Amino acid sequence: MNGMVSLIGAGPGNVELITVLGQRRLREADVILYDRLIDPAIMASSDAEKINVGKLPHHHQYSQYEINDLLVKLASEGKRVARLKAGDPYVFGRGGEEAQYLKKHGIEVEVVPGITSAIAGLASVGIPITHRDFASSFHIITAHKKKDGSELDWQNIANSEGTLVFLMGMEQLANISTNLIGNGRSPQTPVAVIQWATQWRQKSIVSDLANVVTDVNNAGLGSPALITVGDVVKVADELMPQLPLQGKRIMIPYSKRKRMFNKLTDAGASLTFFKRPEAKQVSFELPDINEELNLDFDNPTSATLFLQHLFNAGVDIRQTSNWHFVTNGPKTRQVFEDSGILPVTEPVLGIKILNYREYVIGHHQSEVQNTIVTDERHNSNIQVDLDEVDSIIFPSTNVVEEISAGVDAASRKSLVIFALGQKVADRATALGWENVVELIPNIETLVSQMISNGGYVHD
Ligand code: SAH
Repeated sequence: MNGMVSLIGAGPGNVELITVLGQRRLREADVILYDRLIDPAIMASSDAEKINVGKLPHHHQYSQYEINDLLVKLASEGKRVARLKAGDPYVFGRGGEEAQYLKKHGIEVEVVPGITSAIAGLASVGIPITHRDFASSFHIITAHKKKDGSELDWQNIANSEGTLVFLMGMEQLANISTNLIGNGRSPQTPVAVIQWATQWRQKSIVSDLANVVTDVNNAGLGSPALITVGDVVKVADELMPQLPLQGKRIMIPYSKRKRMFNKLTDAGASLTFFKRPEAKQVSFELPDINEELNLDFDNPTSATLFLQHLFNAGVDIRQTSNWHFVTNGPKTRQVFEDSGILPVTEPVLGIKILNYREYVIGHHQSEVQNTIVTDERHNSNIQVDLDEVDSIIFPSTNVVEEISAGVDAASRKSLVIFALGQKVADRATALGWENVVELIPNIETLVSQMISNGGYVHD
């Protein structure tokens, strides 16, 4: 098979601001090379190998040569390579150079455009890059000196009519304001500086050319940032989006990514995922089809495996009328309903109960009689990256066990835990989490509960 490289624009930062094609390429990829501006959560649905070639200013982790060579090497091995770059690959990202290099080395290359931060990043603080009252053009400028070391044409830039957006400009901020004022721009010209636009760590200030350096220092803003100069900045106050969970970075199990993800991101939160260890099926016997029994299930995996086992054994659902399927969980209930079975919520009194359970290896399990293990999950080697996470949602006791296995005592003190239901909250407290907020397990009211229950007071 022929390898190829897709240069993919990841968009301005928020993980949902990538194109549909970009997302598909990530899923199809064998390996992804990504930059430091990329939120790794954007790659959560891809099983590809992920290589961080992130370049910090001044200490290059991978040089551009090394990246180019790595791309050629991987594609030559027949791999589908996704080269994930911030914003649009052809806007100051060296995308052009990488594409040329690949072409020259006979590697098939395509470009998947992205939404550039230089335009969309402004919208995240309510600035339209053009506006009929203020600007009918815009200029996107790199503040890095040119390859030959020569200065930008400041006179030309200062006297252009439209909005100016400087990228990679934080080290040159004083230089930018001095040159614009020196070439005739009013010191009162509005300036906005937006760091980490569209992400949880977004910070911004609105100032003017005369004061921007002081204001940026006072606010502690740094790279990566967009420096926006022009009257369009005046609209920011009016159009700045206000969302209740803006700035929060919340970890959820990856399996909860659909409804819970949508609810939380619509409220402005950024999500990061915890990937549960894979469930490994354990062989188990089916109970006697002629005996009247309560079969109790506490998780959807056990229910799915049980029904599969029945099917594989050639048993038709209509033959199971002696059994009472019992469950309390909505997900587990759904598994049965999908097979045309209506489970009950309480066991029938006076009849033997068999409990079908998942075994989380290495952790305390409640000792219930008549337990049949359907599958095992291994908690060893779990790594939970809680960098910049401020809260975790625990939907089940199993997830509490799994995450806790990979987390140190300090994080258990500082992080806010939202536990869905009392059993889950109790388990989290028992495992040493200190800021546990119990919520009613209801997706519709999740966000309002998170806010009203004061879960974020520890922030
Ligand atoms: N190809 C990218 C730009 C790469 S150059 C694009 O189209 O957006 C890197 C510079 O982009 C950074 O120094 C910063 O100025 C800007 N940048 C990229 N993402 C940003 C973000 N989320 N917030 C603020 N600035 C960002």
